[in-house]
Amino acid sequence: LTAGKCPQIDAARVIADLRELDRRTGGPGGARRLAWTDEWREARALLGELLSQIGISSDRDEAGNVWARLEGDEEPAVAIGSHLDSVPSGGWLDGALGVLAAAGVMRSWVSSGQRPPRSLALVDWADEEGARFGHSLFGSSAFSGTFDAPHAGELCDQTGQRLADVVAADGVDSRRALEAGRRRARLGCYLELHIEQGPVLERRGLRAAAVSGCVGIERHRCRFIGQTGHAGTTPMTSRRDAGLAACAAALELEQIAVRCAGTATTGSLTLRPGIPTAVPGEAEMLVDVRHAEAAQLHVMLQAVLGAARAAADTRRCGLRVERVWGIAPIEFDETLVVLAREACAEIAGSDFALRSGALHDAAEVARVLPVAMIFAPSRGGISHAPEEDTSDADLTAAIETFDRLCTKVLISRGPIAERVA
Ligand SMILES: [Zn+2]
Repeated sequence: LTAGKCPQIDAARVIADLRELDRRTGGPGGARRLAWTDEWREARALLGELLSQIGISSDRDEAGNVWARLEGDEEPAVAIGSHLDSVPSGGWLDGALGVLAAAGVMRSWVSSGQRPPRSLALVDWADEEGARFGHSLFGSSAFSGTFDAPHAGELCDQTGQRLADVVAADGVDSRRALEAGRRRARLGCYLELHIEQGPVLERRGLRAAAVSGCVGIERHRCRFIGQTGHAGTTPMTSRRDAGLAACAAALELEQIAVRCAGTATTGSLTLRPGIPTAVPGEAEMLVDVRHAEAAQLHVMLQAVLGAARAAADTRRCGLRVERVWGIAPIEFDETLVVLAREACAEIAGSDFALRSGALHDAAEVARVLPVAMIFAPSRGGISHAPEEDTSDADLTAAIETFDRLCTKVLISRGPIAERVA
């Protein structure tokens, strides 16, 4: 079997499905598919409709991931997918592109009447974004076995609700989430299509690119504890201002990131009591540190925590640090990345691979299966915002490139098949 004799994806149909998803769960304010909410469930219901139209049923694993299988001549299956959840006021393509393209790949095989040479397994990972509890990659980390159930279950959202209680409403028992790992047994590799969420492809004029791996991330909560006092009567020289300690630390983090050629972001800073007439007695900041190399990530994190400690000491404040979540840097599978580059060259007319600074379910899956990804360009590099967009022409090229990658893997023989098996 050659790629030319295999069915080809209907990219226009995938884009139409994406627009329908946006119509149901998006709007002018952006995507509203926050995990464990009604809009997320509505998005998953649409996926169920699309699959049942092509005669494929789906089910859920213990972590709330949705799976659908199309049986082929050989096992193990090629897994394809991404995530339907979004950040609040997110973009219409982040995650959804990969899931609906995966459905498109299955549709093309079913409607052609051909049986795929290897089984296909579609997956919609649960709560990739971690927007509510700060724990990214919920479903895929349960699948890969890195999910820390006792720790994660106790994480709270801003209203004080526990993760374990919230996911229970969707039938997920977080203590049993790791049992999702049983799905690994029938899978040979994992392929994911995603928007880049950065500016590289657009700047280089690329319509698709292969992804060689993902950066590592350390996410920590730093709580500075000073002394609340009256804004008018507490002399400037005798204050223990936790807010200023946190601000000083945040500015130092920027310098550390520049020095280490990584990224460091203070994405959340909360002052208490948070009124204009009081010196903040407490400040809480959420810090996200990223680097492509594990050793450098460690060096950066130590520098960041050292800077927080120094800023606290300078202002005579206490400091409590809690690791919220983290993931080690990961390289994707060399053989599959080569196939991904070939697909880019054949369909999108360019051969380029880059490392992702954003996190993807593929980074978790790569710990237990060979993985490759395809990126589509993001207009202006913007993502996690209502303005997130990609032209139809670029989407078409990226969807068809992903389809070609799937075909290459499905028909592969020799070393690639052994790799997959
Ligand atoms: Zn995403």
